Amino acid sequence: MLKELQESILSLKKERNAVILAHSYQSPEIQEIADFTGDSFALSVKAKDIDADTVLLCGVRFMADTVKILNPDKTVLLPNPAASCPMAHQIDPQRVKDYKTAHPDCCIVAYVNTSTRLKAQCDVCVTSSSAPKIVSRIPNEHILFIPDCNLGSWVQKLLPDKHLTLWDGHCPVHNQVTAEDCARMKALYPDAKLAVHPECPPEVVEQADLVGSTAEILQYASSREDDIIVGTEKTIADWLGLQFPTRRFPVLSKKLICHDMRMTTLSDVYHALEGSGGEEIVMEESLRLAAKRPIDAMIELNT
Ligand code: SF4
Repeated sequence: MLKELQESILSLKKERNAVILAHSYQSPEIQEIADFTGDSFALSVKAKDIDADTVLLCGVRFMADTVKILNPDKTVLLPNPAASCPMAHQIDPQRVKDYKTAHPDCCIVAYVNTSTRLKAQCDVCVTSSSAPKIVSRIPNEHILFIPDCNLGSWVQKLLPDKHLTLWDGHCPVHNQVTAEDCARMKALYPDAKLAVHPECPPEVVEQADLVGSTAEILQYASSREDDIIVGTEKTIADWLGLQFPTRRFPVLSKKLICHDMRMTTLSDVYHALEGSGGEEIVMEESLRLAAKRPIDAMIELNT
């Protein structure tokens, strides 16, 4: 049944000259039919040079929006319209606009996990992997970092010469892990390394052997031979377990499950490609151009 559905999707994909992009947090059966998988930054870069009529994004809304911002002439589909990162909507864009008016010399840095309307008010986007490098290259004395204060704190710690003003946003999934989770898991797995995402709170980040994006955690785990306590979405621990069956990849906390990232099903993908479901991303051209500016700046500053 699963294989049949995957084959039907692949045949529809060919008919529509479509490309499927999937975030690394998507289920294995979706990753199997994707043309490209990766974290937010890898997907943003990939979105720049896609040769297809239709792009179907398996992830959350801001990722599909990013594909549309970079590919206005393509049909961009989000298979499950309800899949949306809660952090992307934690700030009213008007508040950022007002902040900019009050602080005209400030550079506003937005984590890519933000809505299109919010991006349109910002100067530069960053991802978790590119944030330290990009912020280090910003000349402004005053930098406002939105919305994730955990990611912002980590960047500030790495770049003590920079002065970051942080917002009070956070990822509701990663923000739940605690120093007690670290202590409990280190006691259970005393020889394991701890690898965490910078969306985790500072008291967790400071105990980690590696702090990095999803791609960096995967790379770190793949380059070693020991057990790794995984401090990011559980899908990554599951995927590592399948790739390296003789090693252990316990997840740091049972709470590390993003329901939005898990919302998209193979059936959603099928119906979106068939035209009986999903949502085509549309946006006003003026908004698209305003939101493209910080994404272009991110790609340029990261080269
Ligand atoms: S894991 Fe956190 S940042 Fe990522 S999509 Fe889910 S809520 Fe958003």
